[in-house]
Amino acid sequence: MERDKKYTELVFSRLKEYMEIEGVSRYEDNVVEALKNNTKDANVEYSRDRFGSLIMTKKGHTSGPKIMLAAHMDEVGYAVLDILDNGQIKVSPIGGLWPTVVVGTKAKLIASSGKEFYGIFGHTSIHIMEREKISKAMTTKDLFVDFGFKDKKEAEEQGIEPGDRILMHGETFRLYNSDLVAGKSMDNRAGVTVLDQIINRLKDQKLPNRPYFVGTVQEEVGTRGAKTSVSLIEPDIAFAIDTGASHDTDGAIKGDPKLGLGVAINIQDYETMMDPKLVKILTDIAKKHNIPVYKYVAQGGGTDAAELQYGKGGVPTISLSIPQRYLHSPLGVASLFDMEALINLMVEFLKAFDQKTFESIQYK
Ligand SMILES: [Zn+2]
Repeated sequence: MERDKKYTELVFSRLKEYMEIEGVSRYEDNVVEALKNNTKDANVEYSRDRFGSLIMTKKGHTSGPKIMLAAHMDEVGYAVLDILDNGQIKVSPIGGLWPTVVVGTKAKLIASSGKEFYGIFGHTSIHIMEREKISKAMTTKDLFVDFGFKDKKEAEEQGIEPGDRILMHGETFRLYNSDLVAGKSMDNRAGVTVLDQIINRLKDQKLPNRPYFVGTVQEEVGTRGAKTSVSLIEPDIAFAIDTGASHDTDGAIKGDPKLGLGVAINIQDYETMMDPKLVKILTDIAKKHNIPVYKYVAQGGGTDAAELQYGKGGVPTISLSIPQRYLHSPLGVASLFDMEALINLMVEFLKAFDQKTFESIQYK
């Protein structure tokens, strides 16, 4: 796969922009605005379903198979559960979070009034911790967030209410291998970046199909936005673009995907078995255009594909993964090489997939 340094930098700057947006599940509007702004010259039309998912269609494309490409826009975080008498805040998770990876890091609270506060996911300092607690993993029940309020009254006076959202904070930076980017909400702003670039790269292209580029909401709390948008769109085939846990760190169980190897095609996870005929078409296109791809069987997690497959009458679906280290933590790591490979693959796929090809994969 040939690469252009300037293009890599463009992808990085887009990724950084999306990662730094705060958009915990149910509050994805800032991601929507950025996606619209970054695709405004790409000949697409915008609509939202009543749940909030953003649907982008190509202008003037009214025939050929309907292809849905979904990337979820939301990120994991916490909601204010209770304010303690000492002003510290107990939380309820939004999405799958392991408290161990957030303890001691920076927290940001956005009150329903819009007022913002910075704090720390708190813990008992090791010096004064009871011995038997040291070796035990923390649970959400033990977790609290400290924004410096002196008591409950002060927090309430500042407008803090149950349900206010608390986000993780992690600065965006490049690692020694400059393809590797670290930062907050890589899951799934990497996918949002890929979606943005597929749209922009196909800006002046007339396609033999009808693509529906969808930024879904509420994936992290149970693929909810994919469910509502797929029922509205009724696609013929569908793809979920999401990050998937990378197996290349010390102590991880053996398996794929891994960073830097190209497009990871998820063949099955606990919720979805991908359409083998569609997989074959996709891998043939990859081969033809010299784009690195590989298949893997996921050993955990699920994606929007779980809902997409249940679109009207059943939908041939594939989940495409961007491998990521340290999912659902303040600093996730993914590779720009993998993202570029995925952009290239889906650009070529959309240029090629026509009605005849669609008919060739249908059950007779
Ligand atoms: Zn995700």
